[in-house]
Amino acid sequence: HEIRVCMAASCQSSGAQPVLDALTAACDTKGGTCRVKGVGCMGLCSAGPLVTVGERDAELADSTIYRDVTADDAHDILASVDTAPVARLQCPNDLPFFSRQKKIVLEHAGVVDPDSFKGYVAVGGYRAMVQALSEMTPADVIAEITTSGLRGRGGGGYPTGLKWSTVAKMPGEQKYVICNADEGDPGAFMDRAILESDPHRVLEGMAIAAYAIGADKGYIYVRAEYPLAVERLKNAIRKAKRQGFLGHHICETQFNFDVEIRLGAGAFVCGEETALMASIEGGRGQPRPRPPYPAESGLFGRPTLINNVETYANVAPIVSEGGDWFASIGTERSAGTKVFALAGTIENTGLIEVPMGTTLRDIIEVIGGGIPDGKAFKAVQTGGPSGGCVPADHLDIPVDYDSLKTLGTMMGSGGMIVMDETSSMVDVARFFMEFCMDESCGKCVPCRTGTQQMHALLDKIAKSEASHSDLALLEELCEVVQATSLCGLGQTAPNPVMSTLRYFRDEYEEKLGR
Ligand code: SF4
Repeated sequence: HEIRVCMAASCQSSGAQPVLDALTAACDTKGGTCRVKGVGCMGLCSAGPLVTVGERDAELADSTIYRDVTADDAHDILASVDTAPVARLQCPNDLPFFSRQKKIVLEHAGVVDPDSFKGYVAVGGYRAMVQALSEMTPADVIAEITTSGLRGRGGGGYPTGLKWSTVAKMPGEQKYVICNADEGDPGAFMDRAILESDPHRVLEGMAIAAYAIGADKGYIYVRAEYPLAVERLKNAIRKAKRQGFLGHHICETQFNFDVEIRLGAGAFVCGEETALMASIEGGRGQPRPRPPYPAESGLFGRPTLINNVETYANVAPIVSEGGDWFASIGTERSAGTKVFALAGTIENTGLIEVPMGTTLRDIIEVIGGGIPDGKAFKAVQTGGPSGGCVPADHLDIPVDYDSLKTLGTMMGSGGMIVMDETSSMVDVARFFMEFCMDESCGKCVPCRTGTQQMHALLDKIAKSEASHSDLALLEELCEVVQATSLCGLGQTAPNPVMSTLRYFRDEYEEKLGR
């Protein structure tokens, strides 16, 4: 048997390390064939520390899942391995939270030891890279990615195959591959969990991308606030190099690919690709106008491919299983699955992966378990500070790139903040505006000053000190800042205001005086 303990950041913060230590010690004392393994995120973060017991290669669905485990439970868990499960700790594995998901990106999360190179290889890791290098031309790889219909998971939804082929066609000996792991939306932790759970999967995706576009150097730009993800990535890079899966003459071919980590110092704007590249180059992390696009003139002025963590994590299965297989999942224009971080007032806080096109109602009421304490659902914020809210009347909308746009929001990178009936939507808008105001890099006036002015007006409204003309001014500012800011941060900063005004205008008007 294998006992797996979730050692991702969420479970560690609720005490997974003592659980792992206690189970390891109990196992050593007992002897026998049971082994204890630290693994990545199992998803149900609100019930951590999570532990599973099953056969060595068992899927989560075939294992016994234990929730809220403490070190004191170690002996009971071990004693029950060959008998009936410990009922007081058991979490039914036919819970919709587990049974309604479809895992491609997270297929190894909660299964493999993220620090084990052998563990990744044992579940088929690096097979896609070897296949690409030995059986496919770069053009074949790009064709497969194009057929898959994969779109950028960082929020933009740009077709990945098109992006890759654009960079591949650019002249020049030196090209770069960048992985954007500067996840910064409040409430979002998809990329962190992927990196903490399955770092080799991201490296494999980057290496395949590098082969496809003709690059030999890659950078992972990851926030310094993710120390566990950074540590596991460093370890994975070191081990992959030692095993000949990164570095020179990979798998005894002519293909070379080296990866370095660059730490972001916590500026949200560095998630914007031109600011991110400026930061890697050692400059101040500020956006610049585009064109030129990174594909033509990116890092150090060279053609550069930038994708986010989740996009790269989709690459290996597409190469192994084929683009048609991937395209058959999800919807016609949004293929595959999407990882979401469920946060806010929802029963099952955590990380989920569902086929594109799953309805918001299924995500919130079925997989998420609904709103706690018998309260009513009010809205869900998707797309972070660039997105907007979806009220209860629209819960049956399928979640994909295009449908959410019709509601004035966006899928974004996958953060979902659920709000119950007690939330004030003016406060929600003020919160996101404060975030954008703090994170504005100050380079252009509309964003630097506009976010401050909009925040001041929202503050006035929230305190019931504003007039109708203040609200009119707020709406005018939204349009101006959206139309005239230099980068996405400023252009989308008004979205939460416009969205809450669209669906909850009465809440604003109730607070107005004259
Ligand atoms: Fe900086 Fe905001 Fe202008 Fe973007 S829009 S360049 S974040 S000031």
